[in-house]
Amino acid sequence: MTVAPASLGGMSSTVAPAADALARVFGYDAFRGDQAEIIDHVIGGGDALVLMPTGGGKSLCYQIPALVRDGTGIVISPLIALMQDQVDALAALGVRAAFLNSTQGAEERSRVERAYVAGELDLLYLAPERLTVPSTGDLLDRGTIALFAIDEAHCVSQWGHDFRPDYLALSMLHERWPAVPRIALTATATEQTHREIQKRLQLGDARHFVASFDRPNIQYRIVPKDQPQKQLLELLRTEHAGDAGIVYCLSRASVEKTAQFLVEQGIPALPYHAGLDARVRAANQARFLREDGMVMVATIAFGMGIDKPDVRFVAHLDLPKSVEGYYQETGRAGRDGLPSTAWLAYGLQDVMQQRRMIETSEGDLAHRRRLSAHLDAMLALCETVQCRRMQLLAYFGEKYRAGTAGSARSSDRDAILQEDRACGNCDTCLNPPESWDGTIPAQKLLSTIVRLQRERNQKFGAGHLIDILLGRQTPRVDQYGHDDLSTFGIGTDLSEMEWRGVVRQLLAQGLLAVNSDGFGTLVITESSAGILDGSRRVALRREPERTTTRSARKTRSAAAELPETLQPVFEALRAWRAAAAKEQGVPAYVIFHDATLRELATRHPSSVEELGTVTGVGESKLAKYGDQLLEVLGAAAIPAP
Ligand code: ADP
Ligand code: ZN
Repeated sequence: MTVAPASLGGMSSTVAPAADALARVFGYDAFRGDQAEIIDHVIGGGDALVLMPTGGGKSLCYQIPALVRDGTGIVISPLIALMQDQVDALAALGVRAAFLNSTQGAEERSRVERAYVAGELDLLYLAPERLTVPSTGDLLDRGTIALFAIDEAHCVSQWGHDFRPDYLALSMLHERWPAVPRIALTATATEQTHREIQKRLQLGDARHFVASFDRPNIQYRIVPKDQPQKQLLELLRTEHAGDAGIVYCLSRASVEKTAQFLVEQGIPALPYHAGLDARVRAANQARFLREDGMVMVATIAFGMGIDKPDVRFVAHLDLPKSVEGYYQETGRAGRDGLPSTAWLAYGLQDVMQQRRMIETSEGDLAHRRRLSAHLDAMLALCETVQCRRMQLLAYFGEKYRAGTAGSARSSDRDAILQEDRACGNCDTCLNPPESWDGTIPAQKLLSTIVRLQRERNQKFGAGHLIDILLGRQTPRVDQYGHDDLSTFGIGTDLSEMEWRGVVRQLLAQGLLAVNSDGFGTLVITESSAGILDGSRRVALRREPERTTTRSARKTRSAAAELPETLQPVFEALRAWRAAAAKEQGVPAYVIFHDATLRELATRHPSSVEELGTVTGVGESKLAKYGDQLLEVLGAAAIPAP
């Protein structure tokens, strides 16, 4: 099928062209959230700035206007490695799409250029650096530009970690083609990024569309780190057997180690980090996208733009550096809207390590302050006794509203948090931790530090301080004669694990600091004084006993959610899909999403007409796969009622 703008409009005079494209090309029957309004606005020639979470449906917001408007939609994307998949997915829908980037040979490039000039493309994907080449501008002028879509628009912001200098040059789009509508899209929700996008891309007149950033199908859990690999394994075995997921680690070494560990345990896993050869990286990414149930163990170098819809879990074995990063990374789970898990294991070492990294980082004071502010916000999320979702959304200036579309935004986070609402789908809601008065233990710890420093001019790390409080006669205690200290052995009412929790939380609250000597020794802060003189109290979080059964609501695979009688049909459809995907060399989800297979299994359509009404079955796929699907469905036993 060729989707020319004229044919879209001409198909049915009563249906608006946008709704028509939605149904015929994509096989969907209704727009979601702000999609209809955004699409209308851009079709009408307006600029738009769209903030929508991952999985919210941003792509349609420029794809449909590109189909409806005259000419070709130019999509600027930094994700060169994913352009082929994006174009394949569009081709499967009958949309004429192509890309221009550095991976192509001259011949291929000129073929695409000719198609563009001849008006034979609905969408053209470009890497941002191509636009700074003068010949690209000339090329674009020889065809008709329907719109510019600036995907991953947060890359223009220096505040975030995805900054791409080439994005700064995109302000030229407005100068050179003032009449062409632009739509900038991002899943990054902070005010700061929002403002920067508007300013740097010169989107002064753009209409802003800000969706709720809640991802209700993701269950957020943050657990105390004990034996991280074992904890991860238990999560995968008990809740995510056979599921695809991403495990994030901070260092390349731990990526390698963890991937190997999982493989040894019989879980299909692959490593991904910047130190791997580019070809290995590309191959691993392709396997993750194409094979079912693959676990990717990666540094944060992996993931932006990955639009695999059925990632069932995202696990962090190390503390993310910011809430933005955490939100982006966890957001890669459950784009298809089915239940998914975001799981983070976090401990004292994480806080120590990150504080130390900031202290010793290059860059000026302002830079270190910024890193510190990011970390503090992340720590506050980890240590909260409130609903994680509420806290997360409040960070982005959004008030959580259970079960309602739309969102309320406010810059007053405290006011937002005052309102006691809870999501019911995070660990603190499912298994509320207690808050306890930690003032006395805090005083014991802080005064040990003060005494060592004042009386002996010594500084130590957490391990030795805890040994002193527990009254342990270690070689080091003997060496320094620390059993003479008045605080020696005064902390036996808490276990070592509990003491580590105290240290961690005091660090998180800024009542304790890591010294900048690079040895991880602990020092008091200005705020510690109030604790020591008793004028200030400190509330700490007590971890609930193991967070199993009650909080670990089973997040099951797409097949398991179906009644047992329908599972053979679903599996038959899945096998057919796997074969078709392999034959065409595309990821399975490019053929059909799990949600579509589920609907097919449940409704069991027996005619081409009926097939066409299933979500995700548009004209092109109906024509291509209709007969095969009917055959698979016909052969699969229909369960007796
Ligand atoms: P984003 O780019 O915002 O992360 P996508 O554009 O990839 O999200 O959309 C997420 C998923 O939702 C995709 O699988 C897409 O096909 C699906 N989707 C988007 N809009 C609709 C809609 N109106 N009806 C049904 N499914 C939709
Ligand atoms: Zn909650």
